[in-house]
Amino acid sequence: MPADLPSSQPSVPDAPTADSVAHAEAAALTAFAAAGDLDELKAARLAHVGDRSPLALANRAIGQLLPTEKAAAGKLVGQARGRVQRALADRQAVLEAERDERILREEVVDVTLPTQRDLTGARHPLTALMDRVGDVFVAMGWEVAEGPEVEAEWYNFDALNMGADHPAREMQDTFFVDPPGSHLVLRTHTSPVQARSLLTRGVPVYVVVPGRTFRTDELDATHTPVFHQVEGLAVDEGLTMADLKGTLTHFAQAMFGDAVTTRLRPSYFPFTEPSAEVDLRCFVCAARTGSVDPACRTCGGTGWIEWGGCGMVNPRVLTACGVDPDRYSGFAFGMGIERTLMFRDGVADMRDMVEGDVRFARQLGGTL
Ligand SMILES: [Zn+2]
Repeated sequence: MPADLPSSQPSVPDAPTADSVAHAEAAALTAFAAAGDLDELKAARLAHVGDRSPLALANRAIGQLLPTEKAAAGKLVGQARGRVQRALADRQAVLEAERDERILREEVVDVTLPTQRDLTGARHPLTALMDRVGDVFVAMGWEVAEGPEVEAEWYNFDALNMGADHPAREMQDTFFVDPPGSHLVLRTHTSPVQARSLLTRGVPVYVVVPGRTFRTDELDATHTPVFHQVEGLAVDEGLTMADLKGTLTHFAQAMFGDAVTTRLRPSYFPFTEPSAEVDLRCFVCAARTGSVDPACRTCGGTGWIEWGGCGMVNPRVLTACGVDPDRYSGFAFGMGIERTLMFRDGVADMRDMVEGDVRFARQLGGTL
């Protein structure tokens, strides 16, 4: 501490003395050290470094000293202010570091904690199943074909051997499109794509047609006005019902497992001759236990599940599409996608498929 201040001859009453400067410096250092946070340090800074602080006043007082006194007083006060400024900066750095550390500690994010995520959607099980069906047939060299959902009556009925006065035309509850003379319908099945494929692709042709179809049914546990079918059509030289049976068995095994048993049961469709229903041995009772459960709800106690329709393409359909029925033969089949999903995954109520609950989609859509 400098002690050479000429205090014996004060030129003005408040001339800085060694004692007063040392006292002011000590008070500043004590206040800075005592400041517990940046707010307290700011108050201490204003009190001990601000314009009205003792050291600032002492600095201003130097200007009023005698020239011979200025140098010593200036050195005394200047050095004291320098030490105070450094102490202030040091304390400021310490308190800022403490604040930063506290923020990091208090606002820490534990990235390992489970989070509440926004729920994402899932592919609809019907869409996933239709893609799966397409894959099964593409793997056999078939092509996936599509057709319009608003369809000409000719494709939906006439080309499929259902003329205007054909009773089968009344078998399907049809949505007709206005105006009445437009001859447009919402397609009642995917079968019109048979005719479209024959006309546009020619023969031989192997196409599978998954798609949306429409009938005037009320929505209930087993009916929906909008549903999905998959249609298959193969036309080539020398195709027989053995090819149909083998194709359907492979398709059924891809859907329901290798152990599934298929059966063809004689039936009638205008666009196939002969026609058959495709049944599956009931995998809830008959196929699993070896005996039919009369109370089985899946097969209705018959031991067989009706899966779809099929048959050899009616020569009249081939003729309508410009294909020579004496040279070419073919087979066709159609299954309901909803029905397939119900049997395959145990969906009991068709309404679950149309209500759009993402939990339903997530449960089945990812497993197909
Ligand atoms: Zn059964």
